[in-house]
Amino acid sequence: MSENQMLVGKVVLASHNEGKLKEFRELLKAFPIELLRASDFIKGEIPETGRTFRENALIKAKVVSQASGLPALADDSGFCLEALNNAPGLYSARFIKEHGSVEQAAFVLNEKLQGASRSAFFVCVLALVMPSGESFVFEGKCPGSFTYPPRGEKGFGFDIVFQPEGYDLTFAQMPENLKNKISHRGKALALFVREMFHQSLF
Ligand code: IMP
Repeated sequence: MSENQMLVGKVVLASHNEGKLKEFRELLKAFPIELLRASDFIKGEIPETGRTFRENALIKAKVVSQASGLPALADDSGFCLEALNNAPGLYSARFIKEHGSVEQAAFVLNEKLQGASRSAFFVCVLALVMPSGESFVFEGKCPGSFTYPPRGEKGFGFDIVFQPEGYDLTFAQMPENLKNKISHRGKALALFVREMFHQSLF
């Protein structure tokens, strides 16, 4: 990556999820990066046709980088239950959509888990694609357990039924800065920031 490319402070976040945009902005607020919305450059969702989190993150970041001519950051993330072969995993967002609400999706998962291990984790794969096509991939995981009934009002998605290892609170009950410190997205972003310093982005 050349110095010129790395001096660009604008990065487009390839996501239409406002919850994620808010988390990314918070996580990157200490850095001279202006995080732009993908909707300023492309209309509609980018189909997630990959077979892995990594493939999906790269697909989204590539499309947005090409459309905007700017570096683009995309994440693909999911909620994985070990007793269910890591489902809903890659299909977490679709699983919620199919059941109409996250509360209903959580109810169904709780039924499936009767008598089984409640070990769960969140995973986030972050892809940064430069206008040159060069790409970087970072992965973060947060281990914990599925807890039912749902607790808390903060965050989004499966936060209400996920209790990270070592805490009595669900992600949805935690102050934002604590979730961001220990979350799968926070960990992937920390790797991204480290690499960017290493490559003299800032
Ligand atoms: P995608 O990465 O936009 O494909 O969506 C991933 C889905 O995984 C989201 O819609 C949520 O259901 C779930 N998910 C990913 N990260 C989180 C999180 O930090 N909290 C709660 N749910 C999450």
